[in-house]
Amino acid sequence: MNHLAIHNPATGALIADVTADNASTVAIKAARARAAQPAWAAVSLADRKACITRFRAAIVAELDGLAATMTAETGKPIKMSRNELNGLLGRIDFFLAEVDAQLVTETVYAEGGMTEQIQHTPLGVVANISAWNYPWFVGGNVYIPALLTGNVVLYKPSEFATQTGLAMARLLHASGIPDDAFIVLVGGGDVGVALQAQKIDGMFFTGSAATGAKIAQFLAPRMVKLQLELGGKDPTYVCADANVKNAAESLADGAMYNTGQSCCSVERVYVHESIYDAFVAAFVDTVKSFKVGAPDSEDTYIGAITRAPQLEVLEAQVADAKAKGATLLVGGTRLPGPGNWFAPTVFSNVNHSMELMREESFGPIIGIQKVSSDEEAVQLMNDTRYGLTAGVFTPDEARAKAVLAQVNAGTVYWNCCDRVSPRLPWSGHGDSGVGLTLSTYGIQTFTRPKAWHLRQA
Ligand code: NAD
Repeated sequence: MNHLAIHNPATGALIADVTADNASTVAIKAARARAAQPAWAAVSLADRKACITRFRAAIVAELDGLAATMTAETGKPIKMSRNELNGLLGRIDFFLAEVDAQLVTETVYAEGGMTEQIQHTPLGVVANISAWNYPWFVGGNVYIPALLTGNVVLYKPSEFATQTGLAMARLLHASGIPDDAFIVLVGGGDVGVALQAQKIDGMFFTGSAATGAKIAQFLAPRMVKLQLELGGKDPTYVCADANVKNAAESLADGAMYNTGQSCCSVERVYVHESIYDAFVAAFVDTVKSFKVGAPDSEDTYIGAITRAPQLEVLEAQVADAKAKGATLLVGGTRLPGPGNWFAPTVFSNVNHSMELMREESFGPIIGIQKVSSDEEAVQLMNDTRYGLTAGVFTPDEARAKAVLAQVNAGTVYWNCCDRVSPRLPWSGHGDSGVGLTLSTYGIQTFTRPKAWHLRQA
């Protein structure tokens, strides 16, 4: 029997020791899901929606406890845990409001006794391997529309958000989703490897580009629908005409929210030389105002780093930036433990020779680079293997649109950042992934369009 030890990243304390899956239990669970799928697909859409409506109510009823669980196992500041759960409610509402229209069979031609229709059928058995940084968001983006559209789900939460994943299953089952229509697989990468080896109809993965590439390689010969929502190195450009204080405050929040552990964290800032010094000063002032502390404390803004090995990535980026001439303005070191802590860190005078400006940091650290024109900013923003989000701060809408039209990113922001809407597709260019979640496209993605040619005899 495998076990998974769950630790609180803020204290290092053991929270729980849970039974984990292995290759043979994964195979058994996959077979159960396969057997359950036709019956779940046969449940009326109204009844499937009623289950998800009850799930929403259960989240509301238990919100404080669910937030505390997520905070204990991920180190996310408690207010942000509640924000995530409250944000999920809006996403559920969107899916409930839109799913009917997405499943209507379309008649696209009807003439001379010939009718052509498009029917939207479920994929079947959907595998969802998930990340820990926003477990309710990134999990819910997949399993809620997947279940609504008649799929069954094999859900592998991150090993750093296991208790949260088990809570999702408990609430879904209590809301009427059959036990075998949503099955949790507990464990780390080895359980993800076992899951991808099963007979599945879709793999929906959220995590690092490195793991995503391994999954893509494994599934390539299998003709399994694959979606990968991966990391980023998201840039923002602050133009000469921007409101310096507003931009600095918004971008410091965008860089450091959730302790910098968001897929769409601001990871690079480019600032026009005419306002560079004023912007850097305002940015550092904002970062210094962020309260670092116990994640379960109401006034904490910067919590723990969830995964201990990430501390080494952050230290290496700091050392590399310093060695190549960057100016360290605040932070730059681990903070005393127990637990995993890193000081909010800001560098100026950075450039693209530095890892800090090239590879995902996934922590409370940022580099601010001086530019002399919009053209230079665009060139630098696109100098990356990633392409999740990008932003521009300027009062000039035409200028912002001209810049953002040239940037390779799935999502672009004018005078905002680090923002996700259920109404808009969430997708990446380059190594930020393939496929999408959210929006009506993020419902359709769990269906297969079946083409009907019907001739009256
Ligand atoms: P990770 O790649 O380490 O792990 C993700 C999941 O994959 C976990 O459940 C893990 O157990 C599993 N896994 C690990 N190795 C595997 C393998 N060989 N085969 C199958 N499964 C395997 O990523 P993480 O640390 O959990 O998440 C952080 C990353 O996720 C960051 O890069 C972040 O940017 C990205 N992310 C992206 C989005 C998005 O929407 N684009 C959202 C959230 C997080």
